[in-house]
Amino acid sequence: MSEATRRWRRGTLVRDRALSASARSVTFAVPDWPGAAAGQHVDVRLTAPDGYQAVRSYSLARAGTDREIELAVERLPDGEVSPFLVDELEPGDEVELRGPLGGWFVWRPGEQRPVQLIAGGSGIVPLVAIARAHAAADSTAPMRLLASVRTPESALYRDELEQLRATAPTRWHYTRVAPPGWTGPVGRLSPRDLEREVIAGSQHPLVYVCGPTGFVEAVARTLIDLGQTADSIRTERFGGT
Ligand SMILES: Cc1cc2nc3c(=O)[nH]c(=O)nc-3n(C[C@H](O)[C@H](O)[C@H](O)COP(=O)(O)OP(=O)(O)OC[C@H]3O[C@@H](n4cnc5c(N)ncnc54)[C@H](O)[C@@H]3O)c2cc1C
Repeated sequence: MSEATRRWRRGTLVRDRALSASARSVTFAVPDWPGAAAGQHVDVRLTAPDGYQAVRSYSLARAGTDREIELAVERLPDGEVSPFLVDELEPGDEVELRGPLGGWFVWRPGEQRPVQLIAGGSGIVPLVAIARAHAAADSTAPMRLLASVRTPESALYRDELEQLRATAPTRWHYTRVAPPGWTGPVGRLSPRDLEREVIAGSQHPLVYVCGPTGFVEAVARTLIDLGQTADSIRTERFGGT
């Protein structure tokens, strides 16, 4: 970690938006923010009046050198930090941030290989940053997103991803409840689903998998079984099981 990324900076909440019943997009103004690549994350540090501190990592939903950074946080009902960020933080409030962090789970616009993005739940956040960077750069690298969500209502950034359909089409997969008229399978992503939806290993895609730890590990294992090479799969584990 360089001196610049190790340093804690103050971020002021300037915008927020509900993304679902349990998730919120929060945008912080960070005057001395150095910029970030798509896929990177920050550490957020909260300090209670008694000095108690908690630090958690959150992916950046947008790359670039703006002096604002956007995060998207899913509330875990028994969590320490996420309920505060989703329900309690108000415009004008400050948090501390450090980053950008992560040098492997990154996509850069000069990359020409096809890109397959695979998200479980809020794991979609850094993949939205990648899809946005791909569109902003007018990249001609083929890109696809496969997003596994519990229900249609829990899908984050759905409207925006629909607008990116021409350059980075999204396929939604439902694990609990599907929308009316849905004819596809419902349940955890199976090897068959992955074989059908993911760009084939023969096309040498870069594959980015992000979500809860158990999701990421199961998907990565299945992709290897399906013929993708380990060094073409980049993973980001959000925690949990
Ligand atoms: C690199 C990185 C990027 C991340 N980006 C995001 C992001 O963009 N958006 C986002 O909402 N979260 C993201 N996370 C997860 C985030 O850091 C926290 O772990 C999450 O918000 C829970 O924190 P908490 O304090 O509310 O829960 P805690 O008090 O830490 O945990 C409460 C309970 O939930 C379990 N748990 C912790 N994390 C998860 C999880 N991800 N899924 C299921 N169960 C879990 C714990 O084991 C514990 O039982 C990221 C994590 C990493 C490592």
